[in-house]
Amino acid sequence: MSTIDLENVTKRFGDVTAVENVDLTIEDGELLVLVGPSGCGKTTLLRTITGLELPTEGTISVDGNDVTGIPARKRDIALVFQNFALFPHMSVEENMSFNLRMQGDLDAEEIDQRVADIAEMLDISELLDRDISELSGGQKQRVSLGRAIVTNPAAFMLDEPLANLDANLRDQMETEIVRLQKQLGITTVHVTHNQSEAMTMGDRIAVMNDGELQQLGPPEEVFYEPANLFVAKFIGSPNMNLFDATVDADGAHLLEESGPGLAVPIDLDRSDPIVLGCRPEHVLVDRDDRSGGGWATLEIAFTEFHGASKYLFFDVGEDTELIARVDSDEPFAAGETVSVGFDPEQVHAFDPATDERIDQSARTDRTRIAEGTRPSDD
Ligand code: ATP
Repeated sequence: MSTIDLENVTKRFGDVTAVENVDLTIEDGELLVLVGPSGCGKTTLLRTITGLELPTEGTISVDGNDVTGIPARKRDIALVFQNFALFPHMSVEENMSFNLRMQGDLDAEEIDQRVADIAEMLDISELLDRDISELSGGQKQRVSLGRAIVTNPAAFMLDEPLANLDANLRDQMETEIVRLQKQLGITTVHVTHNQSEAMTMGDRIAVMNDGELQQLGPPEEVFYEPANLFVAKFIGSPNMNLFDATVDADGAHLLEESGPGLAVPIDLDRSDPIVLGCRPEHVLVDRDDRSGGGWATLEIAFTEFHGASKYLFFDVGEDTELIARVDSDEPFAAGETVSVGFDPEQVHAFDPATDERIDQSARTDRTRIAEGTRPSDD
């Protein structure tokens, strides 16, 4: 178990700045998920923490000791890759014991016992004698994790370990990795480009874009209080609805040319335009005619069934759509005209000049987040 500190870490490859000025503390025993689009610098940051890359600037410390110049093999940080990186000509048992045998600290009996214990934990005991070529993708990923766990590292770095798995197996492995990480209490950094995986797994998530850290916090905070437009668009599915708006004493008024022309009472004293955001799950849909109360009257263009929920799509403005998420047993159908509004407690304001979040008192009720309540519980 260890605490890892990154101070002003920058990594350049020639003209390309892969990671820029990242300040980040990975707490002892936490599962931190690094998430962001392809090319945003996640793998480079992970490799830099591991010691496979040297930062161009900045320092990395483990438990207060500066390890910036220390090579990977001396850092006691295990790395698990997306492509498993197993030895194909060796059995599962030989793969799992390989690092321990190389280290030479334990005798053969102790190594056998350690491998057997971890294999049992990962539910792969019956595979120990098999060749790697005889395993499925999910089994290979378990062996890959097992090979890293047996060495009892100070920290774990997982680089997109689930990317090659099918959706069902990925869901299952997400849960297993979290369970295992909690059981072992090992400080872990998990890299993914999948925001849903990040929200499911992370104690905290670090959202990156263009090499820079955009926001760091528990999934609830990043979801309910995105720090800027990038995070607002990247986190959550379907994407947050975003519209240009002006503000006066009555609240925010969505511009007709960009949105449905509805009004939302928000507590914001501002003369410049804003970008107003509302997640699909916080869009209110009502069969009753609410016109005149700030709601818009819109026709449902089409619907999508997603199991427990259903998405309603409305065409508003040119090439712009508004999406509402409702329970799938709500009998809304394409072609129906309904009233649409935004939950005023759950709207987000952003400054179009800087993309940064603008705080307003109606939206900063952190007690609600701390208590874990969701708008659907209201
Ligand atoms: P992905 O999700 O696609 O794996 P990523 O977020 O992990 O992407 P990185 O692989 O860290 O991103 O790459 C960040 C940037 O650094 C990219 O522009 C990439 O082209 C560049 N880069 C990474 N490694 C090198 C290298 N060895 N030499 C030159 N440029 C590199």
